[in-house]
Amino acid sequence: MLSNSLIEQDRAHLVHPVASWRGHEATGVRLLKSAKGATVTDATGHQLLDGFAGLWCVNAGYGQESVIEAATKQLRELPYATGYFSLGSEPAARLAARLADHAPGDLNHVYFTLGGSDAVDSTVRFARYYWNARGLPQKDQFISVQQGYHGSSTVGAGLTALPAFHAGFSLPLDWQHKISSHYAYRNPVGNDPQAIIATSVAELRAKIDQIGGPERVAAFYVEPIQGSGGVLVPPKGWIAAMRAVCTELDILFIADEVITGFGRTGPLFACEEEGIVPDMMTTAKGLTSGYVPMGAVFLSDHVYDTIADGAGAAAVGHGYTYSAHPVSAAVGLAVLDLYEDGLLENGRRMGARLLAGLQGLSDHPLVGDVRGRGMLAAIELVTDKQLKTPLPAVAQPSTRIFDRAWQNGLVLRAFAQGVIGYAPPLCCTEAEIDQIVERTRQTLDQTL
Ligand code: PLP
Repeated sequence: MLSNSLIEQDRAHLVHPVASWRGHEATGVRLLKSAKGATVTDATGHQLLDGFAGLWCVNAGYGQESVIEAATKQLRELPYATGYFSLGSEPAARLAARLADHAPGDLNHVYFTLGGSDAVDSTVRFARYYWNARGLPQKDQFISVQQGYHGSSTVGAGLTALPAFHAGFSLPLDWQHKISSHYAYRNPVGNDPQAIIATSVAELRAKIDQIGGPERVAAFYVEPIQGSGGVLVPPKGWIAAMRAVCTELDILFIADEVITGFGRTGPLFACEEEGIVPDMMTTAKGLTSGYVPMGAVFLSDHVYDTIADGAGAAAVGHGYTYSAHPVSAAVGLAVLDLYEDGLLENGRRMGARLLAGLQGLSDHPLVGDVRGRGMLAAIELVTDKQLKTPLPAVAQPSTRIFDRAWQNGLVLRAFAQGVIGYAPPLCCTEAEIDQIVERTRQTLDQTL
């Protein structure tokens, strides 16, 4: 039974991330109690399919015994070792080597963090270090993309381009700049892929000029698919075109794969599919499948070597107490085993089924757009398909859709702009994928 005192404790003392504090006081907490595979059970005993893998992170699904065993064994053997100075632990070294082996191109060096926000933060510091080491300290301006999300740290939240993360915080910072998103469904240039690519390339070049030319620009950030902005999938070739501009103008290209990494879009990393190698790549979430916190920055050979040579015998002064945490690393190794042993393959098959299923909802009067790749998808809800009028008030926690889906046994993600997002665990069965689609249709019918 759900105890009232527990709800009161939460209401009185727990400050929830990305929540209306006053709204939460009114609604109270929705507690989850247990989970197995792709199913979560709330504190009242209600079972739901987790269509969002927690927060796009539990890629392996819940209750994977090999992961639990790896964490338990590591907790007994060595629950903590610092990565500072030249100290370390066996699982951290092994995980870094295996990740480097899997990473695209020459992303051979791995810097572990606690999650995605501090991974992004680390790349900002590494980029500054890199240009200083190259004797170009005036390259200190950063560009990212509207609708992008790059975390909630003081610096990363400025690169993030979602209004809720700026309002009241006086962000972004004056060295952070944005270009428009590729957002095909609502792009002023229409949805022709070549037109979208040409426009983005022109806008990036114009932005660089406006800032003072390439000699002022340190780095450009992209998500291979924009997640929190509403699962916005760029046209094929968009990322390669943006990468090419950065290569030509000697600007670091940083891929934020915090959501897209670790099989979310099909391959281990989404960049592989685009055939590009970023200068740095940020990851988190699926790295440990959400069982314990961990993120990782991948550095290419030339970024690593430039920083290393620049520092010489001195320390590169950037680190966290929990960088390369041995328990997180042990979990990362066990999760990587799962990806290699069929989880990626299952995710690819289930992703195709999910997208086909959601495309089957296109005939629904509320569905304006269906998009996605792999186990990352969205439907965009409108009240008028011609005018593309967004369905109002689908954002959590007020959303009727989220509540109805919950009652129908489905956890989904409702975004402010009328978008419903999907990121189920890669371990889903065909029947579970079909249920996610069926429960969505049921929920939409109830919303008409
Ligand atoms: N970058 C991207 C693309 C993300 O989606 C997120 C989180 O959703 C982050 C960074 C921040 O990661 P974290 O919440 O682990 O700090």
